[in-house]
Amino acid sequence: MEIIEDIAKMQAKAEELIIEKATRGFVPTMGALHEGHLSLARRSVEENGVTIMSVFVNPAQFMPGEDYDSYPRTWDEDLHLAEEVGVDIVFHPTAGQMYPPRRQTTVQVHELTKNLCGMSRGLGHFIGVTTVVAKLLNIVRPTTAYFGQKDAQQALVIQRMVIDLNFPVKISVCPIVREDDGLALSSRNRNIPADLRPRALALREGLSLGREMIRNRVYDAQSLFNAMCVHILRDDAIELDYLHIVSPETLDDVDKVDDIVLIAGAIKIGGVRLIDNILVGPGGPWED
Ligand code: AMP
Repeated sequence: MEIIEDIAKMQAKAEELIIEKATRGFVPTMGALHEGHLSLARRSVEENGVTIMSVFVNPAQFMPGEDYDSYPRTWDEDLHLAEEVGVDIVFHPTAGQMYPPRRQTTVQVHELTKNLCGMSRGLGHFIGVTTVVAKLLNIVRPTTAYFGQKDAQQALVIQRMVIDLNFPVKISVCPIVREDDGLALSSRNRNIPADLRPRALALREGLSLGREMIRNRVYDAQSLFNAMCVHILRDDAIELDYLHIVSPETLDDVDKVDDIVLIAGAIKIGGVRLIDNILVGPGGPWED
């Protein structure tokens, strides 16, 4: 496995791979790798001649007061795991290289970023995400890039950006990987205080309750919202950041579940922010 830390070297390598006509799968990550990341990497390895994974904790997508400093960093273990699943190249640029002085360009997807994480973290979060992903796609030049449904809004925003700006890349969105008890895997799970870990399931349980209610033909969004909130907030260790029932295409709130909806939420537990979501409609699916 090759480790490339320099942008110019990564660009030269991308050029070489293009000349060789290799199919190039790309898995952008912020490191602290877990099975969620590895599922994307495995899929890329299966589907492409070459797999490139980036490991870059992107300062631009953390808002002031968020957990940039305490975000888990496990570089040695990341390398080991990436190699184990067959990643060919790890691209690991420095923040100084990615964000040189005098820069003044960003990329913004306007409508899809207004709700959910865009509302709770601020518009700057997604400007940070789209700008770094646009830069990474330009540097790595993959044929397919892999994103997780865990960050449903992010995947949708990236798909929009790629269409709007004509990036010659296919975006592949992969299912959420969970712990045995159902908690969505996240690098931030490492920062949940051990005594609070079982209670971190509250959001997942709330989402599952919403799905069960829809199965029992409760379609009124306000009723679903109320019941899910009551469940999640039963535990005083949990702070609810947001919970929305939205159209999976526009991310606008819906009043009624008359088609597939995305139910997406974010909680804080022990100072750690966790997100999760579920796609469900009047006809299911009733399981992930
Ligand atoms: P991150 O390192 O958190 O920025 O995540 C990198 C990529 O992995 C993103 O596309 C995420 O959506 C994806 N990802 C993170 N957690 C999971 C998970 N539990 N299941 C599937 N994909 C995930």
